Amino acid sequence: MNFSGRVALITGAGNGLGRVYALQFAERGAAVVVNDLGGDMKGGGASSRPADQVVNEIRSKGGRAVANYDSVEFGERLVATAIKSFGRIDIVVNNAGILRDKSFARISDEDWDIIHKVHMLGAFKVTRAAWPYMKEQKYGKVIMVSSPSGIYGNFGQANYSAAKLGLVGLSNTLAKEGAKYNIHCNAIAPTAGSRLLATVMPQDMIDALKPEYISPLVLYLTHESCEETGGLFELAAGWISKNRWQNSAGAFVAKKNLETGEVHMTPEDVRDSWDQITDFSNPEYRTSQAEFQPKLMSCIEALQTGK
Ligand code: NAD
Repeated sequence: MNFSGRVALITGAGNGLGRVYALQFAERGAAVVVNDLGGDMKGGGASSRPADQVVNEIRSKGGRAVANYDSVEFGERLVATAIKSFGRIDIVVNNAGILRDKSFARISDEDWDIIHKVHMLGAFKVTRAAWPYMKEQKYGKVIMVSSPSGIYGNFGQANYSAAKLGLVGLSNTLAKEGAKYNIHCNAIAPTAGSRLLATVMPQDMIDALKPEYISPLVLYLTHESCEETGGLFELAAGWISKNRWQNSAGAFVAKKNLETGEVHMTPEDVRDSWDQITDFSNPEYRTSQAEFQPKLMSCIEALQTGK
């Protein structure tokens, strides 16, 4: 798969996963904007060195890359770098990230805000700035970087997990809004050895979980041959899987008294239907709210008719 003629903006590409994405896009012919603020993993400080090192590495191998040192909060500046340097933008990988891990009660307003600024606001600002160019050229590939923490929750990561699942919601809506402009958006939830993971895992596991096991999916999803959009993929250590929402078939809990016409629905009714509400033996899988409409209509009818 080749990316010649394509321009890829990778946020937080000075270290870890983003660095590997940037190197691999460049190896396969893309012109790359290597964005990195160059701070520490808690969001403090700034340095041009990480982005410069990756740009130098790409150029030394004959690739095309420019550095950008702005925080993703200033998304329009990152996109301006792409347009000024390469004249277009095709691919955005919203990868920049930090951690402020603390048990829930100890999370300060600042710990909450900075996580949401970097992950959620950053992805919003960068992608919103790229969107008009993608719409105009009727082509765009966007990746939101979520996390297993967001999907499942994780002790000490209330701020991070909230932001990371928020990115899945953002991705799902962009996939829908982007469809008619040929803009695709997918979310990934990786696990890979980096300075972020080094805080919670022993070094031999970090060494085994190479970012090179994550990058092939990012490149595939953002290649022009890939039609996937609105997906969420969990991946680590060479394994890739797609996630989806599953509903139980559920229970119709409300009861209509056919003589009086009154509808009753009490907490006791919920309790008495609990086994059926939580029974996944006959599941449903939805990818849009519209798919819920027939069910909604039949429930409204049942409320009216009592049947
Ligand atoms: P990393 O710390 O190695 O890299 C993150 C990079 O983002 C750093 O170079 C940092 O300077 C940069 N950055 C931070 N704030 C920035 C900002 N405001 N603007 C621009 N750049 C900024 O971490 P990583 O493990 O490679 O993480 C990459 C992404 O993957 C993050 O979004 C992270 O949350 C996500 N993620 C990682 C794992 C994992 O197992 N490593 C798991 C789930 C999700």
